[in-house]
Amino acid sequence: MSIERRLRERIGAAHAAGRWRAPRTLEGAQSPEQVIDGRRVVAFCSNDYLGLAADPRVAAAARTALERYGVGAGAAHLVNGHTRAHAELEEDLAEFTGRERALLFSTGYMANLGVLQTLLGRHDTVLEDRLNHASLLDASRLAGCRTRRYRHGDAEHAAALLEATAVQHSRLIVTDGVFSMDGDPAPLPALAALAQRHGAWLMVDDAHGLGVLGDLGGGSCEHFRLSPSEVPVLMGTLGKAFGTAGAFVAGSRTLIEALTQFSRTYIYTTAMPAAIAAATRESLAIARRESWRRDHLRSLIGRLRQGLMQLGLADTGGISPIQPVILGTSGLATAVADALLEQGLLVPAIRPPTVPEGSARLRITLSAVHTEAQVDRLLDAIDRLLPQDRRAHPAAC
Ligand SMILES: *Cc1c(COP(=O)(O)O)cnc(C)c1O
Repeated sequence: MSIERRLRERIGAAHAAGRWRAPRTLEGAQSPEQVIDGRRVVAFCSNDYLGLAADPRVAAAARTALERYGVGAGAAHLVNGHTRAHAELEEDLAEFTGRERALLFSTGYMANLGVLQTLLGRHDTVLEDRLNHASLLDASRLAGCRTRRYRHGDAEHAAALLEATAVQHSRLIVTDGVFSMDGDPAPLPALAALAQRHGAWLMVDDAHGLGVLGDLGGGSCEHFRLSPSEVPVLMGTLGKAFGTAGAFVAGSRTLIEALTQFSRTYIYTTAMPAAIAAATRESLAIARRESWRRDHLRSLIGRLRQGLMQLGLADTGGISPIQPVILGTSGLATAVADALLEQGLLVPAIRPPTVPEGSARLRITLSAVHTEAQVDRLLDAIDRLLPQDRRAHPAAC
């Protein structure tokens, strides 16, 4: 079959299954009140958890660095694209995470590909949570290692799978710190103990935890008080709570030296622009200092959870700014999301294959720059739109 025909068929099938997706076009900065596709909305879907993506101080740091470094890095880190701004950000990130060193990657996707490809060979095994981020699942494919997927959040299942692997090969347990579609935390203390018991390593992708969880924004490791030796590989992204772009891996000198030498997604790509590195130093400093952002976010999360429970919706136990409202079918999730949009509330419907069959949902995310009134408006709208039979019990009066 010709490629053209094959593509048309797949596109047609995606349309027919209600899985068609297209980007909306945002005018202006990322902020709760925005104009998207020409419509004024309050958005509950960005990963800008601390409200730093459009912070004027972060933008000013980028502007200053643009004057000094220009726009493009011009080369890979190991050639001559690694500027003073990159070096300083790596030092800041190592200090922030309490690790010996940190290494920048251009995206979180690439960081994950690079880590697994560097750490694991054909005979080695990676244990992955079934709901890990797509980049971690792709990373094990690229590494060509053995892959075992344990039931979501189930450290006992992980233990059973780990016990069945050969001790003479390397074993890595890898998990999201906070799951991107459910917002629940991974059972990190149990996974860390399991890894230690078996001489395996634990890697945490803390894209949704860093900056948000822990009093100091240290993420899932701070939340669970886990030491660097319990989590030897910590991956974080810069495009979420820190509001810029790119990612990093933090760990021991040996880990970072190995990634520098062997990670293909570090070596064979242009360094992130220096201005992004400089902007991230500023946003990291703000994220650490302005703990009111975490406090306000936490209070909004509590308000939303409480409100959803009063509507008779199951609480998913998430302590994070990601709060799913599971509706079941793609059709219902899409209908509710469309109706919310009619009322000027942008909440995405997440459908299979992004989430398991039968668990289509609204995925609400909150930011430190949302107001209580905006959260209340969202709760009111959901209350008016949601069919009664989708609730666990009749709405409290
Ligand atoms: C967003 C995300 C990534 C990818 O990071 P990018 O920098 O956007 O490529 C990786 N892992 C998780 C858990 C994420 O949420």
